[in-house]
Amino acid sequence: MDFASKIRSIPDFPQPGILFRDITPLLADGQAYRMAIQELAAFARSLGTEAVIGPEARGYVVGAPLAYELGVGFVPVRKPGKLPGRTVAVDYQLEYGFGRLEVHADAIRAGTKVLVADDLLATGGTISATVELVRRLGGEVVGAAFLIELTELAGRQRLPGMKIKTLIQF
Ligand code: 5GP
Repeated sequence: MDFASKIRSIPDFPQPGILFRDITPLLADGQAYRMAIQELAAFARSLGTEAVIGPEARGYVVGAPLAYELGVGFVPVRKPGKLPGRTVAVDYQLEYGFGRLEVHADAIRAGTKVLVADDLLATGGTISATVELVRRLGGEVVGAAFLIELTELAGRQRLPGMKIKTLIQF
């Protein structure tokens, strides 16, 4: 399957000079979406994945069906103030300023083999913060799965030693 042909590139979004990779055409194609998730699931299975975690919002579009396909739980990571229970938070650097991600403090049992998932790996900041949340809860991060990797931004360098699967590289 040529997954790259299902990605739409939109110049100057969300700001001038950025070429945004839009995954919505892939999501709209039921066969392509299913095949993409199944391919990531084969990778996740090979790592013995026991839970999947992903950041809102596009991380859910990859992580939740992946967890469902594997028959394991999905852990939502959210922006501050959205989760109702006790949370653990990680601050991380954005291009301008800081972002914060939160997870429920009891979302992962210590020692659980966790796969982190998102739609796209760019600088690796978002996924590094997600990895840090898993580690704070005592989980073991076994790998990372994405639809897209922007190779020029070298996100992999922020995830040394990590097993990483991406279906499309730009
Ligand atoms: P990073 O933290 O690796 O620099 O950026 C990745 C995060 O930003 C992901 O959560 C992803 O959803 C979002 N993101 C950044 N650029 C793009 C893009 O061009 N397309 C999409 N779909 N998401 C992007």
